[in-house]
Amino acid sequence: MPLEPELTAKEFHWQLGLLQNLDVGLVVLDTDHRVVVWNSFMANHSGISDPQACGKRLPELFNHFPDSWFTRKLNSVFVLRNRAFITWEERSYLFRFKPHHPITGTAEFMYQNVTLIPLSSPNGEVEHVGIMVYDMTAVAISQEALRTANEKLARLSRIDRLSGLSNRGHWESCLRREYERFCRTQTPSSLVMLDVDHFKKVNDTYGHQAGDKVIRTLADLLRQHARSTDVTGRYGGEEFGVLLVNTDEDNAAIFAERVRNAVQMLQLEHSPHRIAFTVSLGIAEVNNAHQSHEEWIQSADRALYTSKNSGRNRTTLAGDLE
Ligand code: GH3
Ligand code: MG
Ligand code: MG
Repeated sequence: MPLEPELTAKEFHWQLGLLQNLDVGLVVLDTDHRVVVWNSFMANHSGISDPQACGKRLPELFNHFPDSWFTRKLNSVFVLRNRAFITWEERSYLFRFKPHHPITGTAEFMYQNVTLIPLSSPNGEVEHVGIMVYDMTAVAISQEALRTANEKLARLSRIDRLSGLSNRGHWESCLRREYERFCRTQTPSSLVMLDVDHFKKVNDTYGHQAGDKVIRTLADLLRQHARSTDVTGRYGGEEFGVLLVNTDEDNAAIFAERVRNAVQMLQLEHSPHRIAFTVSLGIAEVNNAHQSHEEWIQSADRALYTSKNSGRNRTTLAGDLE
């Protein structure tokens, strides 16, 4: 049934009004890639009015427009008659617009999802392509905030709160990786385990807070002495592990003695007291007799307990026990 011309014009008028006021960018391009429709969303965000835009190609309207990339997309829509999508994850935006939402104050530009739609004429030919531009800034910002929060959480989950060193779980997984690397490459690495001597006495004499201060001070000292490639972790209450990568037992002993001497020189201020303490250490270089990283830890632990049993404040090499 043919439409009454008057009704068609009326319909066309309100439909145009609807498209103009849509909170979505709407652009229509002809086969020559020139703008034939430019709605008010586009005009408001770009500062380019409808009459200024019509008849122009997009690269003439925007600096740094990704011309050849976009032309390929556009041609595929004209030729294949399929829709095409550009998401903000793939390309942050097609049109560089300033963001306008107050809650998205941190964004530099408007993130966009863009859909290209083939528009057929009554004769069935695709002579126009419609471009719809959706503002995705709020989504992008909240996803970014979520990603940052997750990263922070992951970092925190690897760290021991009191000492600021790696916690046992993370430290052990680094040690396991290093053990696996040794199995492939046979390059030496050493493990130093150390434990505060008579720590219970510190707690009993000066209180738990003083004990905590000892743990923090020792952690700082280990951080100062270790290299950036070493992995220092809190293994248990007042027991620490230092993984010295690419280091044999003799060089690990030099590190251990340096730490032991530095600790016995310390005078910890805990008004009105000064607390002195010592540590005992055990060292094990990884070798082929270790069937797992746990056995490597056991070797270092045995050396540590030999230090404890033979008077404390000393270093023992696992290699000397064999
Ligand atoms: P040894 O020389 O044989 O190592 O004796 P020690 O007293 O150091 O060893 P022991 O294992 O008997 O005592 C460790 C104490 O460490 C017991 C526990 O209450 C305390 N402890 C464990 N974690 C913490 C902590 O986070 N803070 C404080 N202040 N004390 C802790
Ligand atoms: Mg102890
Ligand atoms: Mg202990």
